Amino acid sequence: MPHFTGPDGRIDIKSLELPEIEAALQGMGSERFRALQVYKWLWQRGVTSFDEMTNVAKPVRALLGERFYIPWLTTLAVQKSIDGTHKFLWQTEDGHRIESVLIPDDERMTLCVSTQVGCAMACSFCLTGDLGLRRNLRPSEIANQPLQVRQALEAQFRISNVVMMGMGEPLHNVDNLIPALRIYLDEQALNFSHRKITVSTVGLIPQMQKLADALPVNLAVSLNATTEEQRRQVMPITRKYSMMALLDACRDLPLPNMKRITFEYVMMAGFNDSMDDAARLAKLMRGIKSKVNLIPYNENPDREIRRPGDARVRQFQHYLVHHGIQASVRVTRGRDISAACGQLGKAPERSDVTPGEKVAVVRIRREGEGYDASFLPDP
Ligand code: SF4
Repeated sequence: MPHFTGPDGRIDIKSLELPEIEAALQGMGSERFRALQVYKWLWQRGVTSFDEMTNVAKPVRALLGERFYIPWLTTLAVQKSIDGTHKFLWQTEDGHRIESVLIPDDERMTLCVSTQVGCAMACSFCLTGDLGLRRNLRPSEIANQPLQVRQALEAQFRISNVVMMGMGEPLHNVDNLIPALRIYLDEQALNFSHRKITVSTVGLIPQMQKLADALPVNLAVSLNATTEEQRRQVMPITRKYSMMALLDACRDLPLPNMKRITFEYVMMAGFNDSMDDAARLAKLMRGIKSKVNLIPYNENPDREIRRPGDARVRQFQHYLVHHGIQASVRVTRGRDISAACGQLGKAPERSDVTPGEKVAVVRIRREGEGYDASFLPDP
């Protein structure tokens, strides 16, 4: 894998996996076991300078500092929703803004992570898609998000689940995603269980296979339609990979025991919320170890798409359940801070926060707006 470098040409050490750090240290004449010490300082202690690595000899620290640097996301703002959701606005070294969202509910504390700056997939219902793709995030930038959230809020919360559903199509950046996920899963690093990590995709079929071959994490497929024509209207990727080819690939994907693919279905009034859609969706799920997560559309001024009424959402869900499909409804979280599904990337474009500012905790209250339990994919 090519090395990522900073503005002064030094190598981004947090985009390296442990064996690469071992090889680098050996190349510098240092003992191999030092690499694990360095790695733990980076990912368990979250240090930002080599000088903090007090059990590493000073000459080794000096050598490391000459060749490598420790990347860090600048925290521009942390917004807190009335429902307890926190949205983190970060700035990358080269000035891009990305977001992570921490979503509490009764049993879980889920962090939604970004994998790209913007997104190339142009799903018509999603505001992130309006940005287009600016660039892929590096492994270090994908893995620093939970580390830095842990450091900011550790006293209050412990992240239990991670979903790759923030800005970007994770599998469009699969070559950086896989090394980042190894850091998530490594017990010497971020130490998340594979059962607690879910990667979402619009359905990039070869990359789905590549991820499944590499790591046993959960997969969520963003479906959002029940016919090819309907899906083409809202998800341009359908022109490259048809919905039927995607579902066939899901059927054939080797899934570890007990794992199911989550199918996300953003419900848009008058578009894909009819009972005919429910009937077609139930048929499409046949033969796939699946569960369906219904996501009533989050209305916003930039789209004319409407959210279906609660009664229709429940009727749709009941139809699926009565036809043997495990189906749940995700309740909107963080809408008052533009942290809800499909809203990411909106705030940074319009934000007044400036680079280098200290963390600003913004509390936004809107009387009368109610937000209750979130539903995110179960492992
Ligand atoms: S829904 Fe996901 S894949 Fe589609 S444009 Fe938005 S961020 Fe990209």
